[in-house]
Amino acid sequence: MTKKHAKEMAHLLNTLPKSIRVGPWDVTIEIHEKAIPRTLTVDNAWGCYCPDELHIDLGRVGDIPNKHFFAGTVLHEIMHAMWSISNLKAEGQEEEVVQSLENMFVQVFRDNPEFKKWWSRAVS
Ligand SMILES: [Zn+2]
Repeated sequence: MTKKHAKEMAHLLNTLPKSIRVGPWDVTIEIHEKAIPRTLTVDNAWGCYCPDELHIDLGRVGDIPNKHFFAGTVLHEIMHAMWSISNLKAEGQEEEVVQSLENMFVQVFRDNPEFKKWWSRAVS
């Protein structure tokens, strides 16, 4: 990990809100340096949304390859929270839909910085 990457990651980790509102609920966010201790999904996951606790765990932050990957992971888990809180039904398709949307949102925001600024102003 380069010094610049380490500094960027430290800033992102330190400034990530500890909770965000998703629908009517406050969803808490917890960061783990290593693997998520109580993951309900796959072992060694980067993130996990726990619907019963309205809680997002982000794990292995010391292994994150770059800030874009981290941004995508955070968005990914928020979309799982949106899916659950909205009570969407699409048995067996949630992970595929969330992963596809994560990739597209990260790409759209990375490649369209003027749109990203505009959108942020528009929803403020
Ligand atoms: Zn997922």
